[in-house]
Amino acid sequence: QANERESMYLVSEFAQKYFYNILHNTDEGRAIGYSYFKERGFTADTIKKFGLGYSPAEWDAFSKEAAGKGYNVEFLEKTGLTIVREDGRMADRFRGRVMFPIQSMSGRVLGFGGRILGNDKKAAKYLNSPESDIYHKSKVLYGIYHAKQEIAKKDNCYLVEGYTDVIQLHQAGIENVVASSGTALTPDQIRLINRLTKNITVLFDGDAAGLRASIRGIDLILEEGMNVKVCTFPEGDDPDSFAKKTPYEELVKYLDENAMDFIRFKASLLMDEAKNDPVKKAGLIRDMVSSISKIPDRIQREVYIQETARIMDISEQVLVSTLAQLVQKDI
Ligand code: ATP
Ligand code: MN
Ligand code: MN
Ligand code: MN
Repeated sequence: QANERESMYLVSEFAQKYFYNILHNTDEGRAIGYSYFKERGFTADTIKKFGLGYSPAEWDAFSKEAAGKGYNVEFLEKTGLTIVREDGRMADRFRGRVMFPIQSMSGRVLGFGGRILGNDKKAAKYLNSPESDIYHKSKVLYGIYHAKQEIAKKDNCYLVEGYTDVIQLHQAGIENVVASSGTALTPDQIRLINRLTKNITVLFDGDAAGLRASIRGIDLILEEGMNVKVCTFPEGDDPDSFAKKTPYEELVKYLDENAMDFIRFKASLLMDEAKNDPVKKAGLIRDMVSSISKIPDRIQREVYIQETARIMDISEQVLVSTLAQLVQKDI
């Protein structure tokens, strides 16, 4: 079992070098992949640091090369890099995509995200390695290997949605940043951060759709007893696009000034939506109290009760009694 996993790591590391080499040393890689990264504003150093690559737009170029180098088809298949068809022929999972290797805390390559070139709305924008014995997407945070030192040093972790957000912020000089990469945040991912800091600042894409969905996941962070702040970006921007056009000093200032305590943020956001609708307001009182009930520290819960009562213009007593029902177990 341990040997099998080691073989899968070796295949993945070979793949990372292969895609990296294609990006730099072939006409197709340079013309399509490298110029794509350049257009996104990534420097050569950044491409190197994150080991970015390109998978050629052919059926089996990678699989053939790997098999030719002696890598066992069994492990090519188990990592999901190769798909073995019914007639026994091999096909590459990633074709004609720019490649983002996903690394563990200790820097080993676990899997890949591959992005199509351009913005074809019909194709899935990102394709990821499947779950495997070495890649459990619920336990991995993209960028953690490059961010861990700075997260501990700054005693704060920025959490973003995508690969390019991580990379662009790094390049801008903000290195304490990781991404959940499309999946809803999981307890295992939060614990990974919890080993390094108790403070998380979630940076949302500036689109309302993502916001509502992500807010639910944030209660998980509270449950771990961590402090959560959130920061939003102007409509149409995500951390990548915003960082790309904003000078460092201004970017740091923006993050500082717009990071808002999560409970305060959620109360204000929900209040905006409910306004003068009493039924909605009743629902969101329960929603807020449910978030607050997740906080392990009792004094902190009380502070939030006071603040929420003020924001929502209701009596503390209503919140306290609702909370009492929810936290009965630890009173
Ligand atoms: P880009 O800037 O390259 O367009 P993004 O990172 O801004 O990408 P979003 O649409 O904001 O992309 O999605 C955030 C993250 O969700 C992506 O980085 C990726 O990890 C994941 N994701 C997005 N679309 C898909 C998809 N079709 N399949 C799987 N994962 C996806
Ligand atoms: Mn998004
Ligand atoms: Mn985005
Ligand atoms: Mn983006």
